[in-house]
Amino acid sequence: MKKIKCEICGNEYDEIMGECWNTINHTKEQDEEQSKTLSQQYSVLRTFQILAYYLMLGTTGIYIYTSVIFFDIPESYRQYYMLIGSTVSFIFTISSLFCFTKIIDFLFELAYKVKQ
Ligand SMILES: [Zn+2]
Repeated sequence: MKKIKCEICGNEYDEIMGECWNTINHTKEQDEEQSKTLSQQYSVLRTFQILAYYLMLGTTGIYIYTSVIFFDIPESYRQYYMLIGSTVSFIFTISSLFCFTKIIDFLFELAYKVKQ
């Protein structure tokens, strides 16, 4: 009788059976594969999160630097709308980056709850 090797678990079964009977191993291996791809996806998210933290640091640094330059300019040359503009864009950038990191944290929490 012809033996067929199962593509999922590697178990050999008779052709007459039609399909592999070793289904317990199937779900186990599929689960492992699923959690593997899931953690791979999460590691990408974590990288983005770290990147967002660095961007927040960089944005703060640039903002402080431009503010220092602004107050170095003689008072008669200062255009206060520039300071307001940079402050608004700074707050906007920081808050959106902060929200982004919070969303990632939320996704992790959600995935953790689903897993349990
Ligand atoms: Zn099988």
